Amino acid sequence: MDGGSHPRSIVVVGAGLIGLCSAYYLRREGFEVTLVERSRFGGGAARGNAGEICPALAQPLAAPGVVSSAVAGIYRPDSALHIHPSPNAGLVRFLSRFLVNATASRYRAGVRALALLGADALRRFDDLRAAGVDVEINKKGYLYVFGSAGSAARVRDLVRANGCATAGRLLTAAELAEREPCLGDGARAGFEITDEWTVDPSRFVDAMVSVLEASGVRIVEGARVSGVREDGGRVVVGSSVGEIAADRAVLAAGVWTSEISASAGIALNLFPGKGYSFSVGWDEPPSRLVKLEDARVAVTPMDGHVRIAGTMELDRDHDRLNHARIAAIVNAARPYLRGVDWSRRHSEWVGARPMTPDGLPLIGRLPGHRSTYVATGHNMLGLTLGPSTGALVAELVSGRRERVPEFRPERFARAVRAAG
Ligand SMILES: Cc1cc2nc3c(=O)[nH]c(=O)nc-3n(C[C@H](O)[C@H](O)[C@H](O)COP(=O)(O)OP(=O)(O)OC[C@H]3O[C@@H](n4cnc5c(N)ncnc54)[C@H](O)[C@@H]3O)c2cc1C
Repeated sequence: MDGGSHPRSIVVVGAGLIGLCSAYYLRREGFEVTLVERSRFGGGAARGNAGEICPALAQPLAAPGVVSSAVAGIYRPDSALHIHPSPNAGLVRFLSRFLVNATASRYRAGVRALALLGADALRRFDDLRAAGVDVEINKKGYLYVFGSAGSAARVRDLVRANGCATAGRLLTAAELAEREPCLGDGARAGFEITDEWTVDPSRFVDAMVSVLEASGVRIVEGARVSGVREDGGRVVVGSSVGEIAADRAVLAAGVWTSEISASAGIALNLFPGKGYSFSVGWDEPPSRLVKLEDARVAVTPMDGHVRIAGTMELDRDHDRLNHARIAAIVNAARPYLRGVDWSRRHSEWVGARPMTPDGLPLIGRLPGHRSTYVATGHNMLGLTLGPSTGALVAELVSGRRERVPEFRPERFARAVRAAG
């Protein structure tokens, strides 16, 4: 049956943070939802991330000044922002548009757009918990820590200028140690931010899957989607376990979304921004997220372990775990923390953030298509903005909203020869 203007069935491709949340809100609208994942749920950038739910801190990576620091880091494998020195057409395409967006006015517009999307983020996490998503949320806020009072003041002013009203006064080294005794000598200044939360993203993924299963979402794991095509008002998704047809499709395969959309003749300017994390043994860990801003490292207490995460590596090889990046995180974080047993490091992980040149997601119809939608490009914010995005996708697919100009996929889409 042709779903026409009253679609009933939806295929969501990719069970990462965006796919899971989209499936949840689409199901709540009454759609028959099939969720297709090539590996296991959360198999992309979801499970090992830093767990920050931080809508008031959302900002694009493309900021004035970031380009010069990246260029300085090209030949330094230990820098926080690292561009892998193996130029290819995708990287050139990404960086050339990234440069255009790294201006003060575009950065400010990006901050505003992200604030709009994330305005209901915290409430949505509470709603999900109330609806049975069984995951603990740490609501103690964040402690930002710096090597000098100057950089603490600079970042606090920026955070406030970006609209984060809960950034507190500057704290001295002694005040920091009083709040989190695990801080080391490198922690010389900082400030607190209340009202930003953390969650263990891996538990969030598992809890979402349980709720989706209970609500009747059909879940297909181990099915790699190879292509998508529209056929007489229906969408046909080709996968390693056969074709799945539905009235609508939502491509939410993270940084891999472009490979799938290209099969329908549209390539998206997404590039992998790889980040790393690991867990450590620690007898007296912090009680809340500690953000080592000068080191660009997040330290997140989770249930039974502490995750240390960081770095932004622009590298087209999505899955390669570069041990130099892990070593860079250890070296950068070590002066700020005491009591960490670095030798009891485990669960080393790499994930590829789906980066867009302007730092904003791509949410809307795939250009030139009527029944195929895209929801990806969440950069460093896919956990924070997952539930808000899922709700927005449900509004778009059900026709309550036509488009969101700031996130329209046309920004970074180009026609390519369709497969087959
Ligand atoms: C180190 C690190 C720390 C981070 N910390 C935070 C944080 O604290 N807070 C925050 O908000 N964000 C954070 N992020 C960013 C966040 O993890 C990403 O923005 C988010 O995971 C993107 O979600 P996604 O669903 O678009 O992509 P993914 O989570 O990557 O999910 C895509 C899914 O699609 C599947 N897939 C791919 N190709 C196919 C195919 N052909 N067929 C079927 N399935 C397919 C993948 O297996 C995967 O499961 C962090 C990222 C990293 C790397």
